[in-house]
Amino acid sequence: MTASGTSDISWAVVENGLDFLGHAVEEMAKSPADNKYAAIHLFGAIEVLIKARLIREHWTLACKNVDAATLSGFKAGDVPTVDAMQGLKRLESNVGITISKQQAQNVDAVRRLRNRVAHFAVVAIDPVATKTELARGLDFVVWFLEKQILPDAPAGEADLIRDALSEIASVLGEIKAFVAERLATLKSELDASDLLLVCPRCSQACLTVPDGTKCLFCWWSPDDPEAAAAEYVVGVLNLSSYEVIKDGGEWPVTECPECEVQAFVEGAAVVDGEVKRLSAPDSDPDFVCFNCGFHCSHGYIDRCSSCGMWTTSEFGMCPDCIHNLVSRD
Ligand SMILES: [Zn+2]
Ligand SMILES: [Zn+2]
Ligand SMILES: [Zn+2]
Repeated sequence: MTASGTSDISWAVVENGLDFLGHAVEEMAKSPADNKYAAIHLFGAIEVLIKARLIREHWTLACKNVDAATLSGFKAGDVPTVDAMQGLKRLESNVGITISKQQAQNVDAVRRLRNRVAHFAVVAIDPVATKTELARGLDFVVWFLEKQILPDAPAGEADLIRDALSEIASVLGEIKAFVAERLATLKSELDASDLLLVCPRCSQACLTVPDGTKCLFCWWSPDDPEAAAAEYVVGVLNLSSYEVIKDGGEWPVTECPECEVQAFVEGAAVVDGEVKRLSAPDSDPDFVCFNCGFHCSHGYIDRCSSCGMWTTSEFGMCPDCIHNLVSRD
């Protein structure tokens, strides 16, 4: 197999990715925007571009199961290939590209958005939340095209990529202006909130919890507090229950010491009275209940010495365990 043989495949795949991207940008620019297809096409573009970069390194890197893959099968499209998240991991571990946590989260935000629109098509997709998540995907694509695909691109391809980048720039600029304008409109409401969290739907620090979970930016207002807590953990803290179980970690949602509902999140980044994106994992962890709104820092709470549940009791034991202990005598 010659080197040019695989480089041809890689460029054909890049062209596919740019094609998807063109559709996505077109759908976003429509009035009203066709957000459903924009999300599907944007995620398709991201996935394909990641594969193209892997193929440039070696075609087997794009195959799900390297041992079972043959070049002829791969060329015929008969070989299962990696998904976007798996592809990002391989770009890091096998190609040596540094992918920041923010970049991986941006791709994952579009992946989740795509799943919501593709699987729950009957549910109205909120256009405000969709815009912000699509912008995160476009941010990733700009970086990826500029830094990972454009260098070493043949002249014809480089022109196509530059065209795509300028189209993205105009759509992205529009969305960013929309977000800034909307945040400015919400300023007094946001200032008046004493507890703001990052919203898993629109990624803005506009989620108020105390009087029922509600996002001031995109109007997300889940009626199931347990599901809301779980969506926050997946979307903002970027944990999946699958990974947590696999890595032997602890799922950060437990029973609330105040209301006893399974909606008490550990590691919730609280924004006190100001609009700040605080999804950074090294920021001080706090606790927030997505049911009753009870929130506190580590200093105010302890594990019950008997059952291990979080408790605010000053006796180092939760009320239930204290009760059991007392009634045993
Ligand atoms: Zn929101
Ligand atoms: Zn509670
Ligand atoms: Zn206890």
